[in-house]
Amino acid sequence: MAYSFKCKDIGMSCGFEVKTDKQEELLPVIQAHAKSSHGINEVTPDLLKKVTAAIRKA
Ligand SMILES: [Zn+2]
Repeated sequence: MAYSFKCKDIGMSCGFEVKTDKQEELLPVIQAHAKSSHGINEVTPDLLKKVTAAIRKA
């Protein structure tokens, strides 16, 4: 199964998307992107909830 995430799915005007084989591989990539591109140093439980809900399984 593949997991994908698109930044715009959580309301960001951003073209970033990522796809991995495992869900746990996705979060570090999203975290790094949030930090470098959006200045989000800490993923809050609220944001994590949003992100998790936006993850698509295919
Ligand atoms: Zn983004």
